[in-house]
Amino acid sequence: MILSDLTFQQLQEYVIAIGLPKFRASQIFDGIYSGKTLEEVSNLSKEIKEKISDVYPQYKIIRQLISKDGTQKLIVQFGDGKIVECVLMSYKYGNTLCVSTQVGCRMGCKFCASTLNGLERNLSAGEILGQALLVNKILGGSLKDRKITNIVLMGSGEPLDNFDNVCKFIQLVSDEKGLNISQRNISLSTCGLVDKIKLLQEKSYNITLTISLHATLDEKRREVMPIANRWSIQEIIDACREYFDKTGRRIYFEYTLIKGVNDSNEDAQRLAKLLKGLTCHVNVIPLNSVKERNLLGVARAQAYQFVEKLESLKVSATVRRTMGEDIEGACGQLRNKILKENKE
Ligand code: SAH
Repeated sequence: MILSDLTFQQLQEYVIAIGLPKFRASQIFDGIYSGKTLEEVSNLSKEIKEKISDVYPQYKIIRQLISKDGTQKLIVQFGDGKIVECVLMSYKYGNTLCVSTQVGCRMGCKFCASTLNGLERNLSAGEILGQALLVNKILGGSLKDRKITNIVLMGSGEPLDNFDNVCKFIQLVSDEKGLNISQRNISLSTCGLVDKIKLLQEKSYNITLTISLHATLDEKRREVMPIANRWSIQEIIDACREYFDKTGRRIYFEYTLIKGVNDSNEDAQRLAKLLKGLTCHVNVIPLNSVKERNLLGVARAQAYQFVEKLESLKVSATVRRTMGEDIEGACGQLRNKILKENKE
């Protein structure tokens, strides 16, 4: 446990349990939510700091890369030395932060750099939150003055494979006493763990569900996404329909175009048929080739053609803007580079 895993109320209970007066909880909470290290928290005595030093968050930003388009890639290191990456995208309407939910990933998608070394461990709710708190600090924000407006759970890891911690994170980050980010401004992206989508639906959060679909035929999906051996495309779509019926939230699909695998006209037609009648939007993304994998992307012009085809079939779709390409923007790429450098 680290203290950022706790809600304000839980922190108060903790503070009392270790024999401190209740008001200390506010000071500690303010320190954590301002992204301060324990040393930087000025209103706690040395004795108190010693008392909580094992549980006060140790995470820190160890690398910050800024792309020509302003996108930032940040490497966060946790108390045990493990690292993850997060990506900050600044738009006119606010700042979107893409956070990681696991160190590595065990889903094994063939095109994804996060999964190359498998899963190392889950992140706790407070460690996922920590990424937002540290970046909020970099942006000049604090507990009272929140600079991050949107969160996407789209960094390394499969959020629904770390279900309980991710749910706790959603509660913490949207808590009025905390960063108070509206659940409507939170998107969770999954490769399609159908049983967990159903559990998520029962939580009745107001978050947006995004599905990494990437194929329209199960046998093709199995070629690039091992999870397709467990759940069929139809089962995923059915779960999405239920999710929409229950929450009224439009579903998003990620469709990464991989040359010769899922980029044909027939694919666009099958996709339109699968999504018929579902309130949804498709983000078409040209694959960002990963050095370690021999799958190729398509030209942007082809991605636009694919979108046009979908639109002609009455499916809402856009080509996703690619940002931060010059800073190893795709999932897990920068982390791998740093891990390699450290080995050399
Ligand atoms: N595990 C979750 C979230 C992390 S991946 C999921 O699968 O959705 C975030 C998104 O990046 C997914 O849509 C994933 O398929 C996509 N992605 C991963 N590697 C990519 C690459 N090399 N090029 C383009 N998109 C990629």
